[in-house]
Amino acid sequence: MPPVQNSAAMVKFRVGPKSTDVGVEKNTVTQNPDPKPATVRTPSKKMVDRLVNSEVNHRRVANVEQCFGKAGQQLNTFGRVLVGEGVLVKMCRKKPKQRQFFLFNDILVYGNIVFPKKRYNKQRLLPLESVKLEDLPDEGTVKNGWIIRTPTKSFAVYAATSTEKKEWMLHIERCVTDLLEKGNKRPAKEHAAVWVPDGEAARCMACGRTAFNLVQRRHHCRACGHVVCGACSSHTYKIDTLHKKPVRVCDACFDRLTKQHGASNMDVRDSTGVLSSGDSSSDSEDDVVTPSESRNDVVKETNEMKESQTGEPTFYRE
Ligand SMILES: [Zn+2]
Ligand SMILES: [Zn+2]
Repeated sequence: MPPVQNSAAMVKFRVGPKSTDVGVEKNTVTQNPDPKPATVRTPSKKMVDRLVNSEVNHRRVANVEQCFGKAGQQLNTFGRVLVGEGVLVKMCRKKPKQRQFFLFNDILVYGNIVFPKKRYNKQRLLPLESVKLEDLPDEGTVKNGWIIRTPTKSFAVYAATSTEKKEWMLHIERCVTDLLEKGNKRPAKEHAAVWVPDGEAARCMACGRTAFNLVQRRHHCRACGHVVCGACSSHTYKIDTLHKKPVRVCDACFDRLTKQHGASNMDVRDSTGVLSSGDSSSDSEDDVVTPSESRNDVVKETNEMKESQTGEPTFYRE
């Protein structure tokens, strides 16, 4: 069971469609403003079978490896096929950023773009059997998004057009299904919470009082993803799927988790008030982010991708 989100009134960033949302779409704007009609080709198993161990696939994978340089992992392994690649806007903690994504038949890889199509860094590798996608309904100008959930990290991504979104989601889901059908990999039961971007919370989402600034830092509850103040997140808790060490959780999640699993996983701060373990320094925030900035930036970044056509994904058929 994913952690229950309490509905703090200030949260505009919905981290997932609730089932009750279906059918109460107030948005009357026509859904598909793309110039081209959606001609989404469904990926097929055959195409992956055709590419497996082929020379052309081997070259493509080697090229991806080369673009990441020595800091990246070895990607050319037996049976691995590069299914597609392209740029997506990834919602990061502070603001949304363009990231290069590579979909293989068993992993999803992404990284920062140093030089487009030539050099990437900060490689991240997500095993596909643990990936779960969740649609994000369009909200005003913030469109074409979905959530990529994994046990250790979950985040929202946005494509430039609805067609590209469909293509990406279809291909990823197809690869996950095919991988699980083979039977030797199991899907993940627990997925990490999506972090509410800093810009979405001017005040603590737990107490609603603390306004964030240079002194009052933002913290993220690792269980529900909400942005909370230090006073409202004084505990840590060991969430096995997330981290070996206890991680920061908000008071509400702490109560829920200790009730569910008992106190054995709990951990408290040492006398200095510093989290004793498992919490990275990246938890602290230095700049003051204005609310809704991150949403405007999604629109800005996806529009830029659409205009420059850098986002257009390529899915390989042969
Ligand atoms: Zn608070
Ligand atoms: Zn929480």
